[in-house]
Amino acid sequence: MNNLPEMFGSLVFNDAVMKERLPKATYKALQRTIKNGAPLDLEVADVVANAMKDWAIEKGITHYTHWFQPMTGVTAEKHDSFISPTDNGQVIMEFSGKELIKGEPDASSFPSGGLRATFEARGYTAWDPTSYAFIKDGILCIPTAFCSYGGEVLDKKTPLLRSMKALSEQAIRVLKLFGVETKSVLSTVGPEQEYFLIDEDVYRQRRDLLFTGRTLFGARAPKGQELEDHYFGSIKPRVSAYMEELDQELWKLGVLAKTKHNEVAPAQHELAPIYTSTNVATDHNQLTMEMMKKVAAHHHMVCLLHEKPFAGVNGSGKHNNWSISTDSGANLLDPGNTPSQNAQFMLFLTAVIKAVDDYQDLLRLTVASAGNDHRLGANEAPPAIVSVFLGDELGGIVDSIISGAPYKGAEESTIQIGVDTLPDIPRDTTDRNRTSPFAFTGNKFEFRMLGSSSSISCPNIFLNTIVAESLRQFADELEKAPKEDFNAAVSQLIKRTLTEHQRIIFNGNNYSEEWVKEAERRGLLNLKTTADALPYYIAEKNIQLFARHKVFTRTEVYSRYEILLENYCKVINIEALTMLDMVKKDILPAVIAYSRELSDTILSKKQIALDLPADAEEILLRKISGLTASLYRKVEELDAALLGVGEHPDRADCAKYYSTSVLYAMAGLREVADELETLTAKKYWPFPSYGEMLFSIQ
Ligand code: ADP
Ligand code: MG
Repeated sequence: MNNLPEMFGSLVFNDAVMKERLPKATYKALQRTIKNGAPLDLEVADVVANAMKDWAIEKGITHYTHWFQPMTGVTAEKHDSFISPTDNGQVIMEFSGKELIKGEPDASSFPSGGLRATFEARGYTAWDPTSYAFIKDGILCIPTAFCSYGGEVLDKKTPLLRSMKALSEQAIRVLKLFGVETKSVLSTVGPEQEYFLIDEDVYRQRRDLLFTGRTLFGARAPKGQELEDHYFGSIKPRVSAYMEELDQELWKLGVLAKTKHNEVAPAQHELAPIYTSTNVATDHNQLTMEMMKKVAAHHHMVCLLHEKPFAGVNGSGKHNNWSISTDSGANLLDPGNTPSQNAQFMLFLTAVIKAVDDYQDLLRLTVASAGNDHRLGANEAPPAIVSVFLGDELGGIVDSIISGAPYKGAEESTIQIGVDTLPDIPRDTTDRNRTSPFAFTGNKFEFRMLGSSSSISCPNIFLNTIVAESLRQFADELEKAPKEDFNAAVSQLIKRTLTEHQRIIFNGNNYSEEWVKEAERRGLLNLKTTADALPYYIAEKNIQLFARHKVFTRTEVYSRYEILLENYCKVINIEALTMLDMVKKDILPAVIAYSRELSDTILSKKQIALDLPADAEEILLRKISGLTASLYRKVEELDAALLGVGEHPDRADCAKYYSTSVLYAMAGLREVADELETLTAKKYWPFPSYGEMLFSIQ
């Protein structure tokens, strides 16, 4: 493709377009808002809105929308046209600064966790000038934040912006002590996105995929991922055509789609963008997921973003590569090569380690969902236990700082923070420890517990806020130290903090049984399910944290907690009902019909000659009849389990009940159905098999 540079960002009202189309003074005023958060006045907004409208109209666009990210986890939009009536019965195309800055969607049906009664349906959307407007599906989309009439946040963008501000404020304080002046500190993210592609015809025949995004039944195919022939394998032409179109659509939207390859499971793939600011990365990841689904439809395929669409092969996750940098782009998690950079790097690194240990619960619960529960700890994704991987070199340096013993690197030496340079810390390019949930990879941390379908907003809100809190405590302490003792104070602080939080560092195999025991001995949390993790959201220390950094108020924390609990229960409920529906309407009739064919065969054989062998038919009939009876009992058990939900009016209690009783009954039902699938003739089985789904694209 030779016109890529021209195509890139062609649907985005980006900096280049603004520079070209806005009067100089307007452009400068807008930059002040974008870069330093200066308030935007209406006159400037009017000019920007008008330029945006003209740009869009030239591209044949007639409508705009405030594009926002409510708590559903997907994006929302409501389209308005630019038309405005004139006195003589005609229309002109108008778009005012007011319309750009603020919208008022009737938004009573978005989850609010009790923040807003339905009668008070008003919600407000407000332009986020730090993320560019863009054109999608013929609509001018304006990225916005969404809040209630009373100002409580109802979305995933507002708190993300707040958390970025909190992190910036605290990091600036710390940097100042090192003599580094910066106007702002930015958290950056590059999210690697995994997904499955299957043929649309196969998909349409599976109500479980249609209703829940994952297969609720299905016996293992004779071939899975055991040959490891799919990982980085050559890409099939149909998938390749899909990836090409996806790249192009994303490039037009200014998404820096960079790497694509086949993943471990059959039919599984990955797309990684180049990192950008956390806010933009979050918007872009939402767009990426949306485009993945849309483009698949053009190729008669379906893109599955569920965390565990198929049992027995890997599920899909998202690797959230995260770092922080100054306004001049200096990466604060880059080890650097002078003594003072060494001290500064070690302090930021220590801040992250402390944050992860202090708020393991938050990191665990921010990736918790009904879908992701099938992955975490299931021998493919990281376990539910949060720990930090530093690698041998950095791990060795940390050990030597704690113990005061010489560091055994290339040359044996004791490391004095702020005095020595650090030994070379090779970048972990080989991804050596893929089992770690939170790994240092040379100049960034890779948070690997995220599920593939979730927004990356919440994990980054939490990351930004918990690291802001460590930095706040560090700054409070170091600001008190006399200037001449600064080095010693930093050294002491690092040594003390690393000693206190050493338990969170683990460089071994996170999938091993020994680690589970070891982690317990170290006092680390092991929150196995979403129902176990969510209650930590409202722990007093966490409410205080969010309030202190003005990320969430107490009420907002509670509302989010309620929304997550409710979502968890609803998802499992839909899955259970779908299972019952599939068994009662399809699987039972299918196996009964097959039994009938078997018994008819036996009877007709006996009519011909009593001694004509019909052993195979009889054995099979007995097996299937036994399993059919057992299937029916499992249906009754799941029905009963669902009836029991009513006995748990408390939501946290109810979530726990779903995570134990309901899921247990579902697993029991599936087991019998899957066994029946292996015994039933293909022409009777009502759904495409695992083999047909996983190898549907040739
Ligand atoms: P790999 O994990 O395959 O070794 P890379 O190290 O190139 O690949 O990066 C993986 C992801 O991390 C990419 O999306 C990349 O843009 C992102 N990344 C690299 N540097 C940073 C950074 N400073 N902040 C956030 N993300 C980053
Ligand atoms: Mg990775």
